Parts: sequence; C-alpha cells; structure tokens
Amino acid sequence: MGILDIVKPGVLTGDETRKVFEYARKNQFAIPAINVTSSSTANAVLEAARDVKAPIILQVSQGGAAYFAGKGLNNDQQQASITGAVAAAHHIRTVAKAYGVPVILHSDHCAKKLLPWFDGMLDADEAYFKEHGVPLFSSHMLDLSEESKEENIETCAKYFKRMSKLNIWLEMEIGITGGEEDGVDNTGVDNSRLYTQPEDIYEIFDTLSKIGPNFSIAAAFGNVHGVYKPGNVKLHPELLGKHQTFAAEKLGGKDPKPLFLVFHGGSGSTKEEIKTAVSNGVVKMNVDTDTQFAYLAGIRDFVEKKIGYLKTQVGNPEGADKPNKKYYDPRVWVREGEKTLTVRVKEACSDLGNTDRL
Ligand SMILES: [Zn+2]
Repeated sequence: MGILDIVKPGVLTGDETRKVFEYARKNQFAIPAINVTSSSTANAVLEAARDVKAPIILQVSQGGAAYFAGKGLNNDQQQASITGAVAAAHHIRTVAKAYGVPVILHSDHCAKKLLPWFDGMLDADEAYFKEHGVPLFSSHMLDLSEESKEENIETCAKYFKRMSKLNIWLEMEIGITGGEEDGVDNTGVDNSRLYTQPEDIYEIFDTLSKIGPNFSIAAAFGNVHGVYKPGNVKLHPELLGKHQTFAAEKLGGKDPKPLFLVFHGGSGSTKEEIKTAVSNGVVKMNVDTDTQFAYLAGIRDFVEKKIGYLKTQVGNPEGADKPNKKYYDPRVWVREGEKTLTVRVKEACSDLGNTDRL
C-alpha cells in the first residue's frame, strides 16, 4: 500500500494531511517542506516529487508570499503577503494534479506581529471552503514561540478552533529555533529556550487534541535556521523520543508515538541526526537554506560558463553576428536553477526516506 491508496494527487485537506502523516510516522519516513517563492521554484519542487514518486510539502513564508505577488507591492498591512500566498496557493492547486503527487500546501512561521497575514489567509480559506467544501491551504503554521507559553497555547487554541471547522492542519512552535530567518533574529537567545520540555509538549497536545486531531508541534531541540559553523548549540533529536514517551505514558501507553513532530532548521544537519529525528516521529522537515543555494547554483554555473554569450544580444565567441537569444531567454537560464533545485529536493526526499512512496 502506498500514499495514493490513501489520498489523491493534488492539494490535500487537513484530514488528508493527517492520513499522510500517520502513514509516514508508521513507516518511519518524513516529508520535506520546501519554501517556494515563485511559480518557477514551485514547479521545480513538484517535478522532483514526481520523479522520486513521493508526496511533498510546499510552503510559503510571509516574505516569500510577498515576493510571489511581487516585490514592487506595498506590504505595510500584509496585503502583499496575503495576495501572494493566495496566488501561490491557486498556482500550486492548478498544477499539482498534473504532476500526479499529493501536495501539502502550507504557510510557514507566523509570529504575533504577522497575525494580520494569518487572518487574511484564513479569510481566503473560508471563502474557498464555502465554494468548494475544502480549504485553499492544507495547513498553516502559527509561531508564538517568542511569547509566553500561556499566550502561545491560548492563541493556538483560538485559531485552531476556526481552522478545524475549515479542515485545515495547524503546525505550532514551542521553544525557539535559533539563527535568523525571514527577519526574525534569534541568534542571541538563552540556550535553555532552545530545548523544549516534555511537560510543555504534553500540555499543548492535551489542549489542542480536545479541539481536533489535525495538528503538529515544532519542538525546539537545539535547531538553528540557516547554515552556520558548528557553534555552542547542539542538535538533540533524541529529546523528541522523550516527548513521545512522556505523552504516550500520560495517554495510557496504547500508542507509543502519539505526537506529530516537525523539524525546523534542518539545513546542514547530519544524516544521522535526521534519522534519529524521523525515528522519533518527525513527519515534516523544513528545507529552505539548502534549496535556496541549490537554485542559485545552476544559474550561477550557467552564467559563468556562457558569459561570452550573455554580454550582448548579438555577437559571441562563435562570431560577431551570432544571436544570443537561446542563452538569455529566461526559459534557458532560470531552467538551470530549476534543475539544480530539483536535484537538491530529491536528495532531501532520499535523506528522509520519502522516495517510492506513491
Ligand atoms: Zn522554521
């Protein structure tokens, strides 16, 4: 039995997302969540998933969503981030089925100050739900990890009630992911906050599971966004196993892994760390920094190699009157970035055991 015996190709609902995550947790693999910022990057990620026969998660950050709509738009009220997220969702919905893979369509970190963005996306989900009976997105992330635990849980519960009615998955974060991403700088936070405690995880599970089953927790276990030289923070994916055990005991021990866990700041981690995280119930791992670099690589190498064909519209090393259109056409050079991005996404799938799963 594969994923396509459980769900259909295309963008999934929250309930369908849970079925896929249950399957992944049971079979000990995780699905990479790749940040996309354009139709080009989205298509390349879908192409990779199709080639390795796997489900995939596409996500937009608040900044990435604004970029999708266009950097030239005003975003002072999050209007470009809302418009861009909706545009990305419609694009991905339209093409995903053609690639034949199940897609979890997700929005990345939303901190307290960005809640207007979240509200705007939920309005769009609601409107789409009214018309089609399914939400626009599969899943959204709320990240109130910078606030107190009480406020974090309360805010998540409030939003989760609205999201559950719309069949949308919630990802929440507790504890802090170090490093810097999308304008949030956590490079200087206290080390203890970088490791979440099992009691806190259970408190969240207890509160949210009373509202619905469709949620996951991004627990901090020393994760850092971005790729840095090894520093004073160490990744401890074995802590995730303790969260599972603690929750399992509280729940009577029937299910040894009751939690759906998410791995943030996965770029640059070792294969061994990834394996431990997945064996402890991580079903989603975010990959952004490494795929950004991969997208550049193809374009950079093409420009370097073909520089003599890119300086003028006519005239290259083969002759002064030779046209260069077949080198400067964006379908040529942007495509080179798509190819290297696709290779990197396939590698992420393979690292997480997410291949030949359809
Ligand atoms: Zn993250």
